[in-house]
Amino acid sequence: MKIAMIGTGYVGLVTGAGFAELGNDVCCVDHDRERIDRLCRGEVPIEEPGLPELIHHNTRLGRLSFTTSMAAAVAGARLVFIAVGTPSAPDGSADLSQVLAAAREIGAAIDGFTIVVDKSTVPVGTAERVRDELARAARHEFAVASNPEFLKEGDAVNDFMKPARVVIGADDPRAVEALSELYRSVLRTSDRMIVMDVRSAELTKYAANAMLATRISFMNELARLAEAVGADVESVRLGMGSDPRIGNKFLFAGCGFGGSCFGKDLRALSHTGKVHDVHLTIVEAVDDVNVRQRRSLGRHVISHFGGSLTGKRIALWGLAFKPETDDLREAPALYLIEQLRAARGEIVAYDPVAMPNAKLVLGDTVGFAPDPYAATIGADALVLVTEWRELRQPDWSRLAQTMRGNALFDGRNQWSPEHARRAGFFYRGIGRGLPLPSVEG
Ligand code: NAD
Repeated sequence: MKIAMIGTGYVGLVTGAGFAELGNDVCCVDHDRERIDRLCRGEVPIEEPGLPELIHHNTRLGRLSFTTSMAAAVAGARLVFIAVGTPSAPDGSADLSQVLAAAREIGAAIDGFTIVVDKSTVPVGTAERVRDELARAARHEFAVASNPEFLKEGDAVNDFMKPARVVIGADDPRAVEALSELYRSVLRTSDRMIVMDVRSAELTKYAANAMLATRISFMNELARLAEAVGADVESVRLGMGSDPRIGNKFLFAGCGFGGSCFGKDLRALSHTGKVHDVHLTIVEAVDDVNVRQRRSLGRHVISHFGGSLTGKRIALWGLAFKPETDDLREAPALYLIEQLRAARGEIVAYDPVAMPNAKLVLGDTVGFAPDPYAATIGADALVLVTEWRELRQPDWSRLAQTMRGNALFDGRNQWSPEHARRAGFFYRGIGRGLPLPSVEG
């Protein structure tokens, strides 16, 4: 089947390459000429495990191609996926300008019956607006469907190959049939394909992200209480997460969630509620808790040093919003850096893959180190922000040699407080009760 994928971001590139791997003929189109040039040269512009192999394999076989021309991509395609950005508008709503512009261009380019599928995360009612835009320019019949994307950055290729479920929102049976056929080989049992009306599919994506974000903010709120009452939120997490009705996923307290989706999707959902006169109290609280939580780690560091970081060197481990990605969008590390710099701290950072992106955003306002321990040379404190595997078990004796001070701030509750304290460090996690007095090294 010939497929056009509009947008080569995290979603478009992974799903486009994934569809090609399933044997389809996929053409990916993007406005960003530099991005397309790089893809045509065989370079992969984002960090995603397994993605380069998938792209190289399928381009070699001629099943995956890249272009800046909408007409070339859409010509002959029976399925066209819209996977462009839907950032927050100033009023919190989803800015649909990229989606609607893409729909207009697709409408002008289709050359026969075409199924246009919204893969971008879009508010309820967007499919109807896409249909209107298509109708303005199209000279051929088309159907519009919703197929929201649930991939996790850092594990996106796996998610594509083994989806927990595929949601299809469609009123036209031809769309249901084509999408069912497309996904057949990655769905071993039919109960993981959930077909529903378009509006419900659009809402499902927001509901899923809001629930995941709710679990994190709930634990972050409990972490604050745990700190106040002298309990350890990690023990609480294990105790509650072992109940199968609750489950153990997404219950980690930390320095706040980031990424391009949770924050903007919470705000867009809340905006949809307002438009329909339904006040979504929980959804708003989840975002508020996160905004506050993003500052908690920085507050611990600054108060440890008496309210000012003048003359203090802070080593920061991890910049990406989560491990296995180079994505810095809404990354807690960026908020933390701003906070620590406002307190006049000198920052030296290390991240296994996100440093090139970070240099573009941060310039020379922070130092960058070639390895984790180089970042800690002469540091008064070390802060863990992103729990990359290589940063989860520090070599305490090496740190004791490289660091000037002995303060450790674990923004992801990854390190053993006992080991750290035994090695002579002051340890502070998130929601881990009252820290024991620091032991002299
Ligand atoms: P992105 O910003 O990384 O990529 C979007 C791409 O679309 C950009 O490269 C941009 O140049 C291109 N584009 C915009 N308008 C275009 C047009 N008219 N024609 C051709 N190209 C165009 O975005 P993303 O992270 O891939 O997210 C895309 C959508 O998927 C968003 O709605 C997002 O909420 C949703 N989503 C993202 C994730 C994720 O983890 N990133 C997961 C699930 C869903």
